[in-house]
Amino acid sequence: MNAETSLNMASALPKRTVVFAWDMHYSCNYRCPYCWYTTTGWTELAKKSVYKTAQEWAEVWERMHRKYGRCQLRITAGEPFTYPDFPQIITTLTQWHDVQVTSNCSNTEAMEKFAAQADPKRVEVDCTFHPLQGEFEPFVENVLRLRRSKFTANVCYLAYPPQMPQMGEFKKRFKERGVYMNMAIFWGRYKDKDYPFAYTDQEKAWIKEVIGYETGPETVNLDPLVIRGKVCGAGQRYAVVQADGKVYRCGQLCHEGMSLGSIFDPAFELFPTGRACSVDYCKSKEFQAAWEDEEKQAMLEKNKFSSAGAASVGAPSQGS
Ligand code: SF4
Repeated sequence: MNAETSLNMASALPKRTVVFAWDMHYSCNYRCPYCWYTTTGWTELAKKSVYKTAQEWAEVWERMHRKYGRCQLRITAGEPFTYPDFPQIITTLTQWHDVQVTSNCSNTEAMEKFAAQADPKRVEVDCTFHPLQGEFEPFVENVLRLRRSKFTANVCYLAYPPQMPQMGEFKKRFKERGVYMNMAIFWGRYKDKDYPFAYTDQEKAWIKEVIGYETGPETVNLDPLVIRGKVCGAGQRYAVVQADGKVYRCGQLCHEGMSLGSIFDPAFELFPTGRACSVDYCKSKEFQAAWEDEEKQAMLEKNKFSSAGAASVGAPSQGS
């Protein structure tokens, strides 16, 4: 899922110096209305998907291991469990990297195979519940199956206006099954309004109720801070790999002409230093992986960060 900012995801994976967010392929068995891929058009996007074997991916990611050590790969985009031979690919890649997979948890057969094969110390699953597409019972059963096999399997729910009234009820149902339900803020348009700015007082109250505690407006992105000009490690310690292998600084800076190169190119390198951010808001909170720890905490806890300072190299300007 994209178009969102998730909260409270407790990852058990160790912190790594470099994080790659990898859009493995543009294919999904769901058609969620809030998904950027649905609004952009799956058919067109699918043309970018490149299908490779476990051995072929091993060559790519072993090379990244030689350059950057053990990294964290965050696999999203479409539904990863529908990628051919996904359990085998993950088992192979975890020799060199830790892996976090975001899934709609609907493909029970692939998940069973994965749970039997993958190493729960090296891979975890963020399970996103999509109530407009999937049913509660099979979803929660797949989450519990992963947990029985010792995997960290967090659950997330998107605060998308049409599915907000039932948010509290689902939170209760998950709790009855021993599962904590995290929430994600919706970034996008619904009924000609821009979210998260358009949340009503009632919707804000539901969000607070589900989070369960008072939190600063920036933390939940209800009142996001402008970060244009801030030097950011996106491209240096964090990067997005799209399904065709092209690498970008982050999800917002991934337009034509902005690519750092291809992950398939043996000469590919990340930037040696951070560069200025050229958008107003860090919508998907990728700064959490890209910024220095201290600055990240300041942004999250005190709603501020040290002054933008001089940009090392100006990034191309892009609206947000
Ligand atoms: S602050 Fe966010 S949007 Fe800006 S470059 Fe960094 S990761 Fe990208």
